[in-house]
Amino acid sequence: MTVIPFFNDEKRYHGCRRSAHGCRPDSRKTIEAMTPQLVDSFGREHTNLRISVTDRCNIRCFYCMPAENVQFMDRKDLLTFEEMERFTRICVGLGVNKVRLTGGEPLVRRDLHKLVAMIAAIDGVHDIGITTNGILLAEQAQQLWDAGLRRINVSLDALDPVKFKEITRREGYEQVIEGIQAAQRVGFDPVKINAVSVRGMTEDEIVPFGKFARETGVELRFIEFMPLDADNAWERDKVLFAHEIIERLSAEIMPLIPIPDQNPHAPATEFVFEDGIGRVGFIASVSQPFCMNCDRFRITADGKIRNCLFSLEETDVRDLLRQNGTDEEIAAAVKACVAAKWEGHQINTARFIQPKRAMYSIGG
Ligand code: SAM
Ligand code: SF4
Repeated sequence: MTVIPFFNDEKRYHGCRRSAHGCRPDSRKTIEAMTPQLVDSFGREHTNLRISVTDRCNIRCFYCMPAENVQFMDRKDLLTFEEMERFTRICVGLGVNKVRLTGGEPLVRRDLHKLVAMIAAIDGVHDIGITTNGILLAEQAQQLWDAGLRRINVSLDALDPVKFKEITRREGYEQVIEGIQAAQRVGFDPVKINAVSVRGMTEDEIVPFGKFARETGVELRFIEFMPLDADNAWERDKVLFAHEIIERLSAEIMPLIPIPDQNPHAPATEFVFEDGIGRVGFIASVSQPFCMNCDRFRITADGKIRNCLFSLEETDVRDLLRQNGTDEEIAAAVKACVAAKWEGHQINTARFIQPKRAMYSIGG
């Protein structure tokens, strides 16, 4: 493997944990902002790493997992917290400054707060977030906050408990609501709510969600249903498009106004109700792909790097992490994977191929 020399400045952190390299533990504290090195052939810089901590989950959303008999990864195949931390440090050395933990359901991974603390302690990580279904959040919100977590997205597709059960194929609605309340109590502000919008299923949730955002201060994120379901049942006709939701909220609550000067790398386009109360974002991955502004890459719970949610190929780093791979070799693998990123996901073309991994095993 070609090793790209980028460790020539002693003050720069190079992710090294090896005493053989003569690195003092203190050298990890002297990270300086690095020139972004994770740039693909379209000039997109990658500063945003999403780490899937498990593929297990305590519910079974139909747009993500099979209802029964899920083949989960072997526990020995999951990266340890130490491996995730080392990988993150190496990526920070390459310009990553934003990390999100996801899954599967991240809160089912035991002692997740310890991983949060390990990642929050890495100089150069400016932002650490988590995406959770909220079922275990009430019991973990304080621990996560104390560990340094400040951003939280809770996935909830319906405010109607019957609809919730239809979508998730499990109980748990009350626990999610309690989780959202607990997160607000401990200080997460805003708590963001991810709601997947599915035609023929979630239309009646739109207006209640709009009112919920106005009453509780949560920020909504409507996400268009994407072809990443384990059942391979996605069809374009099942996508409830962002513009339809905007029209409905504007007509039935009050007009939504786009928020000016938004971060071009944020996948959500954000709006606020005309009277300034209630924010709503839209991740219109199907109707308005944001691929050309994408700054994300992912590592799966079993240690494969993916440069796109929809990648058909991935790069293994677990073997490097476990078989004495050097930091330089791991960095080179990350750079090569990102450099090879394609232009975009092609959902709207006949060329689109749904990846073999479904969302729960990729890490959404
Ligand atoms: N279990 C956690 C949760 O549900 O928040 C984290 C993992 S989940 C895969 C991450 C996000 O992906 C959730 O907000 C979920 O709603 C979303 N998601 C899953 N499958 C999807 C699909 N097919 N289309 C759009 N969003 C999806
Ligand atoms: Fe579990 Fe999240 Fe997938 Fe729902 S979307 S099945 S909560 S991993």
